[in-house]
Amino acid sequence: MNTAGAILTIDLGAVRRNYRTVRQHLGTAELAGVVKADAYGLGIERVALALAREGCRTFFVATAGEAFALRSIMPEADIHVFDGIQPGEEGEFAAKQIRPVLNSLLQIETWSAHARAARRTLTADIHLDTGMSRLGLDAAEQKHLLIHPEVLAGIDLDIILSHLAVAEDRANPMNETQRAAFGEIAGKLPGRRRSLANSSGVFLGPSFHFDLARVGVALYGANPTPDALSPMVQVIRLQGRILQVRSVDQARSVGYGATHRVSRPSRIATVAIGYADGYPLSLSNRGIAYIDEHEIPVVGRVSMDLTTVDVTDLAEHLAVPGRLVDFVGPHNPVDAVADRAGTIPYTIMTGFGRRLHRIYVDEN
Ligand SMILES: *Cc1c(COP(=O)(O)O)cnc(C)c1O
Repeated sequence: MNTAGAILTIDLGAVRRNYRTVRQHLGTAELAGVVKADAYGLGIERVALALAREGCRTFFVATAGEAFALRSIMPEADIHVFDGIQPGEEGEFAAKQIRPVLNSLLQIETWSAHARAARRTLTADIHLDTGMSRLGLDAAEQKHLLIHPEVLAGIDLDIILSHLAVAEDRANPMNETQRAAFGEIAGKLPGRRRSLANSSGVFLGPSFHFDLARVGVALYGANPTPDALSPMVQVIRLQGRILQVRSVDQARSVGYGATHRVSRPSRIATVAIGYADGYPLSLSNRGIAYIDEHEIPVVGRVSMDLTTVDVTDLAEHLAVPGRLVDFVGPHNPVDAVADRAGTIPYTIMTGFGRRLHRIYVDEN
């Protein structure tokens, strides 16, 4: 029974279809699934198993905790951790065969020292910063590594990677600058696989594919090519239930802050969804919801548990208590909702609230 007001439906069949679509674009390069932050809020366990069904073997998470959790449900998977390794974590990484993405000479030394002490060879990746200035070895560290390859003693290098800063902006010359820098340095390091592209990077063309792409948001239905029609299918639907419908026939206001004034006799439906469910406050007086294909504007301020929509123009039988309203759905995909909210699909998805009633469907 659904005892929550709002419902998040996650279509794992759509995740799998998106995986196949991206793989087609990649040709022979491998497609790794990025499932950090609980698979972008959609549920790592269900999502990772759905991806595995499509043949996905390599997974990336952000933190050690995410990697350990994923290992417990996927004993065989090839699991990589973007944040790399912190002193004290070496034993558990090694025992669980988790591969840290080493981001600095310090992290390389941490992993190498553990390998040497254990008299073993331990696998890891290396992240080269080519312009993001966030994670990875900077130019000076890269130079040091090339001159002193012995710092890698005991480390078996798997993936050499870098991350694109402006991949969703095709025309930006920074993409090519990063690609060239990455190709140059990665070619001098003894890794097994090279990887540059995230979701949008895949669509920059084959020269960005290298051996493996690390794809997250596109699998979850966001458009990796914002200038063009989305090649992806929608994965999520966010619905709230109408609790009551009221007539507001004077010059009244709606909601906290009295930010919306009705200018005509109106019918206002109060829906059980709010910012605690992840529907953004910034969609106050801005969001567009749907009942079937009928557009209904969000009026007043989105509150913690409730959102008010104007249903004046709808046939009365369409907006009644118990009826579900789409806040993300077939007519308002996550890209459009994020855009209106002044944000990106990533924050909408990772912001979904814990109390949402989650339904997983998986059709072919
Ligand atoms: C999150 C992340 C990705 C995946 O990015 P998407 O845009 O969701 O495909 C790839 N690589 C790194 C280093 C990341 O942090």
